[in-house]
Amino acid sequence: DSTTLWLLGDQLDPTLDALAAADEVLLIEASGFADRKPYHAHKLTLVFSAMRHARDDLRERGHDVTYLRADSFGDGVAAFLADRPDATLRLMRPPSHGAGERLREIVTAHGGTLELVENERFYTTPADWHAWTGEHDSDRTYRQEHWYRHVRRETGVLMDGDAPVGGEWNYDDHNQETPPDDWEPPEPRRFEPDALTRETHEWVTERFDTWGNDSLDGFGWPVTREEALAALDDFVERRLPAFGRYQDAMVGTEPFLAHSLLSPAINLGLLDPREAVDAVETAYEERGVEPGGYDPSSAETTLEAFRSDDGPDGDDTTGGSDDATDGDGGATDVYGDAASVPLNAAEGFIRQVLGWREFMRHVYREAMPELATANQLDQERSLPPAYWDGDTDMTCLSEAVGNVREYGYAHHIERLMVLSNFALVYGADPRELNDWFHLGFVDAYHWVTTPNVVAMGSFGTDVLSSKPYASSGSYVNRMSDHCASCPYAVSRTTGEGACPFNALYWDFLKENEELLRGTGRMGLMYSHVDNKDDAEWEAIRDRAKRVRELAAEGEL
Ligand code: FAD
Repeated sequence: DSTTLWLLGDQLDPTLDALAAADEVLLIEASGFADRKPYHAHKLTLVFSAMRHARDDLRERGHDVTYLRADSFGDGVAAFLADRPDATLRLMRPPSHGAGERLREIVTAHGGTLELVENERFYTTPADWHAWTGEHDSDRTYRQEHWYRHVRRETGVLMDGDAPVGGEWNYDDHNQETPPDDWEPPEPRRFEPDALTRETHEWVTERFDTWGNDSLDGFGWPVTREEALAALDDFVERRLPAFGRYQDAMVGTEPFLAHSLLSPAINLGLLDPREAVDAVETAYEERGVEPGGYDPSSAETTLEAFRSDDGPDGDDTTGGSDDATDGDGGATDVYGDAASVPLNAAEGFIRQVLGWREFMRHVYREAMPELATANQLDQERSLPPAYWDGDTDMTCLSEAVGNVREYGYAHHIERLMVLSNFALVYGADPRELNDWFHLGFVDAYHWVTTPNVVAMGSFGTDVLSSKPYASSGSYVNRMSDHCASCPYAVSRTTGEGACPFNALYWDFLKENEELLRGTGRMGLMYSHVDNKDDAEWEAIRDRAKRVRELAAEGEL
């Protein structure tokens, strides 16, 4: 009997173990889902182009690939089984809730058999998770930091025997600097759309109602395995050194800073999370320095780092070369080649992939289906129109929405501390926010967007954090250069022209006092709440009401 491996659009790795045991590969390009929401044109282009490239790549590697274009999986499976009535399909269990069972029903309904196997696309398995929760948890709330340490111990990644490399598990306090004004982040590597991507994009924009930038300008995502590997290499060589230090910063006109931009490739299956972790761990072994031991904004420090024993050697660096000190590029030139990797950069990145990404996947599995509709704060407002058109005077919000409209991307802190923070203190419905993230971001899939948006960003449930990620304008002010150019005054809470975040924040704390004061982690914030007198509260309420009206009318 022959076995067909059915690969979904987020399982595009041509080096999967599962491929070795398959006689045939099936890919079904089911596009009907894209009629249901106005997805970002770049997201649809990316997903369909990557599938088509994977088809060609797999064929070149000698696989027998059937590629079907259909409206739905049902139609595609029916067409596939029509001339192979008793076929057995094998599928790596998809991460989205219930998807494996739904697909099994579809196959069975058409007379075939579907065998679900473990998904190789994650670092850890459900069994690994249960081994951990069995020991550590009884009340079904989970904490990333505990999981992360457990996985480090189990995998030996960045470990020195039983101890974490450098002595600390987490260098988050070295992840919170903002770059100097004249710092130019190294340009991320972009991949020019080829003929197949251009053809796919043309079809996408004709066929679907899309949202955001519908030209291919700005589309530079890797769409093949080869490009994904090149993107990883480029990140590790040129951008990782600054990743740690500026991980939480926001800078106007710099949407990418030193972020890896790898989530679309990892989530599509073009890149294995292990490869990303291994590459960063190896870079640290070869070019590592202590946390903060390398200043990416200073050419001089760079040279010192290169000359020190900790720095890299050989001619694959600019160490000792004259180029580094003269010429017009300064720090950016030096930066063009492999530089030292501080521990806070390596650990910071590995925490995101090995810690957060895996954690979110398992929390989602455990907390669904309730997670999708969780709304413990009973927030019901519609998203303000600014989320759709980016039209607002608030610099932070207009920059973040602008990045999403342009690239289908915003980095983590914009997602958490601007886009979801504003929706949270404004009182937006977490489900609507989740839909918005899902259709707007090139890396969005239900399994990863939902825990990030509904649990982490909206505090719809306490399954993964005991307090909300809510803040006033002061956080944005500390971590960005936005407030200096914003017409709203971050220093003021009330009255016309005051930063909208401020009144909304205090009003949010007051509105949700019963639940939040009781969490025990908001003590300091509620001591500030308690210190405000009645007149202050009246002004805060007035301003919050006014801000909500303006936002709802698209006038903020
Ligand atoms: P980097 O900053 O370079 O981080 C490295 C990698 O770590 C990422 O590529 C990603 O694979 C992983 N990672 C980091 N944080 C998370 C996390 N919280 N959950 C899962 N993986 C993580 N990530 C998605 O992949 N898809 C989403 O739809 C998504 N929606 C989000 C919504 C909100 C409200 C928030 C707060 C976060 C969301 N994230 C999502 C997580 C994170 O913001 C993105 O993974 C990251 O910004 C992607 O950009 P990057 O590759 O440049 O990341």
